[in-house]
Amino acid sequence: MNDVNLNPETQTDVSKLEVLISRQQLQERIRELGQTISADYKNRELDLVGVLKGGFIFLADLVRELEIPCRIHFLQASSYQNRKTSSGVVRLSHDLQLSGKHVMVVEDIYDTGLTLQRVFEDLQSQSPASLEICTLLSKKIEGKVPLDVKYTGFEIENRFVIGYGLDYAERYREIPDIVCMD
Ligand code: 5GP
Repeated sequence: MNDVNLNPETQTDVSKLEVLISRQQLQERIRELGQTISADYKNRELDLVGVLKGGFIFLADLVRELEIPCRIHFLQASSYQNRKTSSGVVRLSHDLQLSGKHVMVVEDIYDTGLTLQRVFEDLQSQSPASLEICTLLSKKIEGKVPLDVKYTGFEIENRFVIGYGLDYAERYREIPDIVCMD
């Protein structure tokens, strides 16, 4: 066992976890998303709202693939609280003012959809000119909250994933690939 990869708190050897989506696949897909979004928003300015914390790396990579003017905002959403399943209660924190703007929510993962639904309704109440959702991952599960997600990076099976911004108990966000923890 390689000690460098061993997390002292959890004793998880991250080098042995299954890579679900490699850093190269992420880069290629995010480049495509950037091109599609740039074409769709040609001649418009886009206000991107990253959902913290899980979406921070995705947003940072996505904006560097855009060829349109944009502004970057963040809001904080929390529901998992050190667990592998959603608590079902989504708390939001932000001071955004997006009335009349073309807004895109940038999220790490559409799982049950409770978080995105809460974020969408909150931002919709500000009367933006338009409001779309872009999610890096979408889990194939039954009974999701139905949402009109315009941009999806990858559809994945119902696995618990970490890396590329996604955590387990605030750890592993720095892993460059998306890996399975279950
Ligand atoms: P939802 O509200 O759609 O059930 O969950 C959305 C949030 O839960 C995501 O923004 C993400 O933070 C967290 N989440 C859902 N599935 C996973 C997962 O497989 N891994 C990790 N690390 N977080 C997840």
